[in-house]
Amino acid sequence: METLTLSAPAKINYLLDVIGKRPDGYHELRMIMQRVNLCDEITLTLTSTPDIRVFCKSKGVPDGPDNIAWKAARTLLDRAGSRYGVTIDIIKNIPVAAGLGGGSSDAATVLMGLNELLKLGLTDHELMETGRKLGADVPFFIFKRSALAEGIGEKLTPLSKMPNCWILLVNPSVHVSTAWVYKSLQLTITRELNKLPEFFESIEDIASILSNDLESVTIPAFPVIADIKKRLMNLGATGSMMSGSGPTVFGIFDSFSKAENARREITKDTGWFAATVETV
Ligand code: ATP
Repeated sequence: METLTLSAPAKINYLLDVIGKRPDGYHELRMIMQRVNLCDEITLTLTSTPDIRVFCKSKGVPDGPDNIAWKAARTLLDRAGSRYGVTIDIIKNIPVAAGLGGGSSDAATVLMGLNELLKLGLTDHELMETGRKLGADVPFFIFKRSALAEGIGEKLTPLSKMPNCWILLVNPSVHVSTAWVYKSLQLTITRELNKLPEFFESIEDIASILSNDLESVTIPAFPVIADIKKRLMNLGATGSMMSGSGPTVFGIFDSFSKAENARREITKDTGWFAATVETV
């Protein structure tokens, strides 16, 4: 049967403003999202029986219908009225529950991959509409560009010509629940949003907008997040911030050697996950 192997990249949030809470319980956000080349590997194999099977050896990743990649396949096969099934093999390189959007990216990749394998001819717009039902960050990975994300994260505006930079990702081994972070967030009633530059011309322009409202919850509970930020700055980062609901912290660097040097220093006395990656 036909097989397709695709890379599912991680994302970081250069900016994450929580603007308010909607009556349906979701938070209204303003984010700047950037893909980086730390990727899961997804292999899709069509099967003649209609079952969907997910295989993944990583700890903390469900392998049945609870896997978001399974849900993506079910949604697309149902939408297409397809008589096929699919086996999904996932090699996780993106840390799980890390604020790096790994599950959403896997789901987006399954939608795009099945569209190709089954020759469904769905447009990116149609795939994004389908992806939105699976998770607010899924459409971003189908969009395939750096983006300003509004609403609950699904209203995307492209940000052209974002400067490329080296990113060091550091994930301390602490468990942070996304649901707990949003539940614990104290929203201020009036929210002045910082004005964003029209264009980002340099890595300094990116550093100037780095911010994440969710740090107000995570840093008091996990001071290690602030320690990593400080360490990255001392090791030559132009800017540093927590991604998503954490706990991954990233530093942006103007050279590979500076980022790698910081990675070596940080991993010397910790058992943490750390990877030097590039924006894509
Ligand atoms: P976000 O940045 O969107 O908040 P995240 O990086 O914090 O995402 P994920 O890695 O997507 O979080 O995982 C969140 C939870 O989803 C995990 O605890 C895991 O049990 C579950 N999950 C389901 N499918 C997957 C998948 N394909 N990859 C990773 N986690 C998955």
